[in-house]
Amino acid sequence: MHRLDGKKAVITAAAQGIGRAIAEAFANEGATVYASDINKNKIHEISSKNKILTTVCDVTDNNSIEKFLNFSGTPDILFNCAGFVAEGTILDATEEEWDKSFNINVKSMFRMIKTFLPSMIDNGGGSIINMASLASNLSGIPNRAIYTASKAAVVGLTKSVARDYLEKKIRVNAIAPATVETPSLQDRINNTDNPIETRKSYIARQPMGRIGTPEEVASLAVYLASDESSYMTGQTIVIDGAMSL
Ligand code: NAD
Repeated sequence: MHRLDGKKAVITAAAQGIGRAIAEAFANEGATVYASDINKNKIHEISSKNKILTTVCDVTDNNSIEKFLNFSGTPDILFNCAGFVAEGTILDATEEEWDKSFNINVKSMFRMIKTFLPSMIDNGGGSIINMASLASNLSGIPNRAIYTASKAAVVGLTKSVARDYLEKKIRVNAIAPATVETPSLQDRINNTDNPIETRKSYIARQPMGRIGTPEEVASLAVYLASDESSYMTGQTIVIDGAMSL
């Protein structure tokens, strides 16, 4: 017996980092997993492991999302993981970065949910999980103006869809991590003048004294995907090594 036996899961941005760990955790818990990413080579690399079915999907493109639905069929679990970190204050930010960030971080979820929800309703319900962040309505983390605004929108979308489709047995929750050890975090650290000091400063802001792992976030995702969380909807769960305490 596994916690997601008999369930079908669909996930975006699963080629690396948190999305990949979630795809693997869902498969380990017995789900049939349809994992997608814009990165063709990397997403296909994960298919041999855990019998995960993979495809290319660009979450900024409705045709690509429609093809993903045709490939997967109706899921019980929809995990919207795609996101992009724009760094800087509002004075550093450009309108192009704003549009790109809201497109990848928020409008992607609008598109994915609009495409997958009708068949999930017809199927009798399901669990949608959106990737938010501690940098959102929950906390104003320095130098993340656009990112924080976009992730606050994810929290709002989560609540709104949860309320509207409650009676259709669709649950919608969000996950709000602080700093998680992923390739993009490493890239952001490497792009600073002093990567060693930058890493130290990321660790220093975590009261637990370490950065979180993708597997720790994936454990929470399994709970929200499973029937164990059947009395929960519209919630954004913080997983942050006590950063917000
Ligand atoms: P990452 O940046 O390491 O990987 C992102 C993945 O998204 C890549 O595989 C990339 O190819 C894919 N991608 C990019 N554009 C895409 C598109 N248009 N369509 C489909 N896929 C696309 O990711 P991560 O750090 O694991 O973050 C995953 C999610 O978690 C994001 O939403 C991010 O905002 C959120 N998050 C991350 C952290 C962190 O510290 N890493 C903290 C809080 C929230």
